Amino acid sequence: MSKHDFSTRLIHPGRDRDPYTGASSIPIYQVSTFHQNDPEHLGRYDYARSDNPTREALEIAIAGLEGGSRGFAFASGMAATASVMMTFQTGDHLVVGEDIYGGTYRILTTVFQRWGLATTFVDSTDLDQVRAAITPKTKAIFIETPSNPTLKITDLAAVAQIAHDHGLLALTDNTFMSPALQRPLELGFDVVVHSATKFIGGHSDLIAGLAVVKDAELGRRVRHVQNAFGAILGPQDSWLTLRGLKTLDVRLRRQQESAALIADWLQARKEVKKVYYPSLSGHPGREVHLRQASGGGAVVSFELETGPQAVNLMKQVKLPLVGVSLGGVESILSYPATMSHAAMPEKERAARGITAGLVRLSVGLESAADLLQDLDQALAQA
Ligand SMILES: *Cc1c(COP(=O)(O)O)cnc(C)c1O
Repeated sequence: MSKHDFSTRLIHPGRDRDPYTGASSIPIYQVSTFHQNDPEHLGRYDYARSDNPTREALEIAIAGLEGGSRGFAFASGMAATASVMMTFQTGDHLVVGEDIYGGTYRILTTVFQRWGLATTFVDSTDLDQVRAAITPKTKAIFIETPSNPTLKITDLAAVAQIAHDHGLLALTDNTFMSPALQRPLELGFDVVVHSATKFIGGHSDLIAGLAVVKDAELGRRVRHVQNAFGAILGPQDSWLTLRGLKTLDVRLRRQQESAALIADWLQARKEVKKVYYPSLSGHPGREVHLRQASGGGAVVSFELETGPQAVNLMKQVKLPLVGVSLGGVESILSYPATMSHAAMPEKERAARGITAGLVRLSVGLESAADLLQDLDQALAQA
């Protein structure tokens, strides 16, 4: 299958039809258990926490699309990240990008810290900081690029190289790009996690997480946690995620086209102090990003002068949903200070450029002209 183009593999991702009936999608196996013909030798499926054919079809699909040896589907993006973290041990140390997703920051600084998994946060765009944070106890480097919400760019191949030079694993959260635009395992990474709630699901109608590993032995460790801890994705949501995946490439390419237009347009507006978009000329790390990803993606962040202006903008827009999340077919306007980064102390937020004037726009599938017109009227009143 891997000889085909990515868009073909989205439609035929390994298990593309039901082997029993020929049905055009893998049915929703809404079951907890499976009859065993021979109680001494259990069949391929025994209990649905361990394996469910619908979830398995999704796991095969995401492994193939990211170019890994094994994929795993979890109840949420955070369940995917936390389950991967559970493969580490008390006393281990991680080097983590300071711009990591707010929920990841929270779980590392609370639950895992209590369990003795230590973390040093660094600006991962600066490779010297990454190298300097490595200690004899370090087991992995975990980064996100583009980061959220200021879309800072980290060099994936360089981080993978640093990790491997020190015998560490390289982990990344690829939610913002998805495998349609960026495939970190192909650049030397060992683990990719996703909030499939976002672009992969794509319709703001489910919560789901995915993890893909390159190496079979690491796959066994993640599989052990998935089965033992049990934060699995149910069959209904596995089916919805599979359905979302099929249109990932066309959705994201169209959304990216509109996002690039909107980023350019925002940059010319006097009300807008700063625009963050990875392929915008002058965006720090632009060249690195365009080397490792095909386009700037569909998320644009921009800063207005003041907090009240940002709040007004969010009250005036008519088309975008105002709220938490991104990656849906509808545009979504978020306020990082009170939403995605509410879990982060204000001082930490300020150090990352997450000011009261900053808003994040996930560009959907509405016409770009209509979105611009809506932003125009909202900015004029902000
Ligand atoms: C939303 C998100 C998560 C968490 O995913 P959930 O599905 O909400 O648990 C993790 N990483 C990134 C980059 C996200 O945007």
